[in-house]
Amino acid sequence: MLFFDGWGLGPNDRAVNPLVTAPMPTLRALFDGEMPTLRGNGHFDSARATLIPTDATLGVPGLPQSATGQTTIFTGVNAPQAIGEHLGPYPNAALRRLLAHENLFQRLVAAPRRVAFANAYPPIFFERLARNKARRSALSHAVHAAGVRYRDIDDLRAGRAVSAFVTNQLWREHSADVPLITARAAGRNLARLASENDLAVFEYFLTDMAGHKAKPDLTARVLEEVDQLLRGILDETCLDDVLVIATSDHGNIEDTSAKGHTRNPVPTLLIGAERARIAPRIKSLTDLAPAIVDLLLAK
Ligand SMILES: [Zn+2]
Repeated sequence: MLFFDGWGLGPNDRAVNPLVTAPMPTLRALFDGEMPTLRGNGHFDSARATLIPTDATLGVPGLPQSATGQTTIFTGVNAPQAIGEHLGPYPNAALRRLLAHENLFQRLVAAPRRVAFANAYPPIFFERLARNKARRSALSHAVHAAGVRYRDIDDLRAGRAVSAFVTNQLWREHSADVPLITARAAGRNLARLASENDLAVFEYFLTDMAGHKAKPDLTARVLEEVDQLLRGILDETCLDDVLVIATSDHGNIEDTSAKGHTRNPVPTLLIGAERARIAPRIKSLTDLAPAIVDLLLAK
């Protein structure tokens, strides 16, 4: 499962939506050359993949935010409705309470199913965590509440984790002794983790960062990286046995006319033979966790 922060479905208009012209051959190839965009809220279906426009506004006014969106995705609870507003980027006490019980990962671990959180964290994160000073996304809180371990620099070196910056370049700029890898190689590492677990989840936030900066070069680089990551995953994944799920918490990168979040639906991308078992259930961010739990507990 790939969680991309800040990726919505925008109109098929190259003047505002950088996805329309983005260097994303892998994503396009999944849909027979067509880049999925907003078209009357319809699904995109092909022989290999389905893309479902998924409501991220959740019946609450204002712009969807990261903490409430992620809490909804990973608990199935309508978090902005529960606390009366969209809130982000980091979860407050009320959201942390929601995340601390009955999240998706807890239900899988209790079943028991094997869950891996693929992100590698640098040594400073663990120092801050020990002092209760680490800033953590809602997803990061959810996996921790389930007792799923945070991966570290040793996992990253061994190819058993992927950094949030994918290629490790930023870690190397901070003098970390880790190899520089391609996004495609990182995707292969993610696919191997998925094959060794019932669920492997990876959090990518540069889509949101690029949306906030709204610089065309940066946005194109980020979208190309996302595409290569996907390419690497598909290199190593048997789609008869493995379902690749990608989703997001709110729109941002798909609209360069503003630097903030959007109320656009987000794309839930399902690749693999089993997608038909959950695709009809996905309408909003509340539908993902229960669908994933049912799919994995039926196995
Ligand atoms: Zn977000």
